[in-house]
Amino acid sequence: MQAYKRFLNYVKIWTSSERSSASVPSSLRQFDLAHLLAFELKQMGLFDAQVNNYGIVYAHLPASPGYEDRAHIGFIAHLDTFPDFSGKDVSPQIIENYDGSDVPLGSSGLVLKVSEHPHLPGLRGDTLITTDGTTLLGADDKAGIAEIMAALERIIGAQIPHGALSVAFIPDEEIGSGTDHFDLERFGAAFAYTVDGWDPGEIVYENFNASEATIHIRGKNLHTGRAKNKLVNAQLIGMELHQLLPPLETPSHTEGREGFYHLLSSHGNVAEAVLVYAVRDHDPILFQKRLDTLSELCRQMNGRYGEHTVSITIKEEYRNMRPIIEACPHLIEHAAAAVRAVGLTPKICPSRGGTDGARLSFKGLPCPNLGVGGYAYHGPMEHITAESIETASQILIEIVRSYAKKPL
Ligand SMILES: [Zn+2]
Repeated sequence: MQAYKRFLNYVKIWTSSERSSASVPSSLRQFDLAHLLAFELKQMGLFDAQVNNYGIVYAHLPASPGYEDRAHIGFIAHLDTFPDFSGKDVSPQIIENYDGSDVPLGSSGLVLKVSEHPHLPGLRGDTLITTDGTTLLGADDKAGIAEIMAALERIIGAQIPHGALSVAFIPDEEIGSGTDHFDLERFGAAFAYTVDGWDPGEIVYENFNASEATIHIRGKNLHTGRAKNKLVNAQLIGMELHQLLPPLETPSHTEGREGFYHLLSSHGNVAEAVLVYAVRDHDPILFQKRLDTLSELCRQMNGRYGEHTVSITIKEEYRNMRPIIEACPHLIEHAAAAVRAVGLTPKICPSRGGTDGARLSFKGLPCPNLGVGGYAYHGPMEHITAESIETASQILIEIVRSYAKKPL
């Protein structure tokens, strides 16, 4: 089956994850797609395909005879779609021979506009797949799933020689808990790729170092008529502290490898205030400096307003996988060779976020991320082309071929 036809089947299955759920996976509906994939994998010949209690699909394809000594690699994509926009009853529009102009999205009144998505004219002549304006599309990451499934089908069907291959489809990536229950031993591969990025040909092995810093401020509330030199307003200390941060180091002023402080929330009253920051930087030294800066500002405030007025708690979220991937350069070399083999130029770029692969890399499975070909994820403007799905799938096949050439 063509990769994009698989994609159209998968997007119809509602798999939104849920932020405030205590269950694993966060929504039971993710099992629907997981069970379908396990069934299809078995049909293809990956006989051990199974869904476990956590909603993770694992399957293995043994090496072709004579290729047992090749590196055991794997591919991973995620089942869920972004929880904050509807992924239910997805009804895609399929526009063959797209003319490169604005696209009305069903009868929703929304329009996919060239002025907002300037790459659209470059897709002229392709089969464009959009939403009908009422849901997201789910290219993130059902395109990745379809590309992996189609690649496996072709590898088996065309008897392309390969080393041992592992596949996993995992739930809850969008809420950051997709890898919590990932079993490295059961997966079995020594190296893997997540297929969950943007442009086909994109190879990402750098992501942010990320922590969440919570600053807690204690004020002193008194009757305002008798407050002189006594009342301490926690909210004003919070504002004062925030003003001391570099004003241009925010998400809306930075790009590429520039880090930032992002004020996620601020709330409080006179007696108490809380500021929560997302702190991000690719460079581990600059990242630590950012955390130190926040701690130093808290110390300054305590110097001004008294010990224990301000305290800070820092929670690590994820780290930059770059040093781990750089220790396995073959991961990037084979991926780049595969991208060139399909006629594209490898686009190696840093991610301004985290990936499941970053978490897996620190668990012991080095895991860069590959582009799936979609655009404008997480909302009604999401779109992709049948051609880019096919190309991204072909890149996976070429990675398998490249690793099959010789042992590591
Ligand atoms: Zn994704």
